[in-house]
Amino acid sequence: MNEITDVRAREIIDCRGWPTVQVDVWVDGIMAGRADVPQGRSTGTHEARVLHDGGNRYFGQGVRQAVSNAMGEIAEAVLGMDVTEQRRIDQVMCELDGTPNKNRLGANAILGVSLAVARAGAEVCGLPLYRYINPLSRVLPVPLMNCLNGGKLTANELEIQEFIIMPVGAESYAHALQITTEINEALRELVIEKYGILATNTGDEGGFATPMRGIWEPFEFMQRACEAAGYRAGFGDDIVYGMDCASTHWFDKDRDVYVLDDTDYDRDALIDLYKQVADKYPLGSMEDPLDEDDIDGFVKVTAELPQTQIVGDDLFVTNVERLKLGVDIGAANAMLFKVNQIGSLSEALDAAAFAYRHGYGVQVSERSGETEDPLISDLVVALDSGQIKTGMPVRGERTAKHNRLLLIEEELGTTATYAGHSFHRPG
Ligand code: PEP
Ligand code: MG
Repeated sequence: MNEITDVRAREIIDCRGWPTVQVDVWVDGIMAGRADVPQGRSTGTHEARVLHDGGNRYFGQGVRQAVSNAMGEIAEAVLGMDVTEQRRIDQVMCELDGTPNKNRLGANAILGVSLAVARAGAEVCGLPLYRYINPLSRVLPVPLMNCLNGGKLTANELEIQEFIIMPVGAESYAHALQITTEINEALRELVIEKYGILATNTGDEGGFATPMRGIWEPFEFMQRACEAAGYRAGFGDDIVYGMDCASTHWFDKDRDVYVLDDTDYDRDALIDLYKQVADKYPLGSMEDPLDEDDIDGFVKVTAELPQTQIVGDDLFVTNVERLKLGVDIGAANAMLFKVNQIGSLSEALDAAAFAYRHGYGVQVSERSGETEDPLISDLVVALDSGQIKTGMPVRGERTAKHNRLLLIEEELGTTATYAGHSFHRPG
């Protein structure tokens, strides 16, 4: 049996109050799996299309058409299929859409069904989702914790989107959460001391939204916070640092320069700046250091910062075709994994498998517009990826992911392995 007998969908809201899609999949007459679709704000140009209604409602951001596509055309195509045949179901939906970027039915409609099908499949098999996808999964990820936010995720002038601490020296995921929360509290005190209490308001992914500018001061603050909390930053120590530069969003295409703290940098000058940072601080991971279309620049930055993992987000958009271009020439050495960038679970898993086969790391990531659905926590364990970016634990849509990982760690018991220093490619 395991027959899909109904697909129901609705418009819900994400953590910014914007509409998104939630889907229920029914199997043999019983509601078996539900999933919410996350949404980005600092999105890459090459992402699959999120279908919005336009018009006045929600300033054009409504998703009633996507909901109706999920309950109409998509439901019709998948009704009667075996819910455990994830790959076939995803393929049927992609073919039904018929466009390369899910332009017709919407990636939000297709992904909602795809993820709810996965949940329902796990349910009918009586397995947690991570084990349903990969029965041998056992690696708990290093959380990349956003301490200081800027860019499109914050109302401040800091161009670089995310300054991150990575508790690589922790013994477990639970210990990693403890360490980062302690450092974050120390950071809060330092921010208050210099900028006052208002500067401890947080951005979309939970980092403080301070008036800092440029690249150096955030690192100084993170370093001082680690020291104040009693942790050491260094390769082989408790903490390494990360960044999501999201530089596409502060690259001035017309003038071909990056504008950081009112200073123009051409590509080489910016890479030089990153090298100076990496000489001074243990920079474990850096996402989107250059514009999404500067693939040759990614080759250069990857070669010139050998100790730093270079992650492609807007560059690869979880798309195996774009990833192939990078792998061929050595652009970056890790892929950010965001299911809604490509719009179906199977395609996202294929991109991750391709990344692994070519020695690339895979960093599973939140979107800035999340709901309380913790699905990516199951995905990061299913992939044994070793790294997750899911924000500081400051609000429900972020704590949901951390708390789900704590539960998975408990369920795995002695088989659980914390990725720690091997986060790039856990063994
Ligand atoms: C990111 O850029 O990595 C991110 C999580 O932000 P968004 O979801 O807005 O793309
Ligand atoms: Mg990013």
